[in-house]
Amino acid sequence: MKTLEETRRRSLANIVHELGRPLGAIQSAVHVLIKGVDDPMVEQELLEGVVNEIKRMQPLLDDLAMLHGQVTGTLTLNLVLVDLSDWMTTALLPWRAMALEKGLDWESEIPESLPKVKIDPERMAQVLGNLLSNAVKYTPEGGKVAVNAGASDSEAWFQISDSGPGIDPTELEQVFEPFFRSQRTSRFPQGLGLGLTIARDIVEAHGGQLDLTSDPERGSQFTVHLSLN
Ligand code: ADP
Repeated sequence: MKTLEETRRRSLANIVHELGRPLGAIQSAVHVLIKGVDDPMVEQELLEGVVNEIKRMQPLLDDLAMLHGQVTGTLTLNLVLVDLSDWMTTALLPWRAMALEKGLDWESEIPESLPKVKIDPERMAQVLGNLLSNAVKYTPEGGKVAVNAGASDSEAWFQISDSGPGIDPTELEQVFEPFFRSQRTSRFPQGLGLGLTIARDIVEAHGGQLDLTSDPERGSQFTVHLSLN
């Protein structure tokens, strides 16, 4: 709970800062456009610049919306007993569509016999969404995203793997820190660096664990462990 509060405070300042830059760029472009530009090429470039800056603001707004959800619902989990196989199969559908649309291979192996787990389905969908949106975002076209799940006597788990750029061994813990964004993925449109922080907070609030293994040559695997006891 404390981590979330801290995250929220730090993030608001950050969001103001991050939104200021594209807004400033849009403002100056519009200013020039209002005065009138003789060269249609220059006019076109300015307009395209505005569109790009607006696009850049979208992930920031998504992070803000996510944070807002975090704060208003301050980790009061609405725990219900959920059939993990059914829940995952449905929750994965939009992500499968998104991966295929980007030209990625998609593989999901969800056994039908997974146990029932006590989770807050909306929060856990956020975890799944944060992990899958990263996998799709950071894996170049032609790569692969895979989802697996399983269970033992004491736990159920699910894993998101991708064949993307992977995570440097020195950054395996840092990626979970608020606002951390790796240089490795700077060519992709990154968010605020809160997705993994929030995902881990939610999993831990469930008494579970979110682990990461990565081979920088072969991609990343994020695993959510949920205790059955
Ligand atoms: P962001 O909104 O920047 O994606 P996250 O907290 O979700 O923030 O992730 C933090 C950083 O961890 C990302 O900026 C990226 O550098 C790295 N990262 C996260 N997921 C992956 C992945 N699947 N493959 C490679 N790098 C990743």
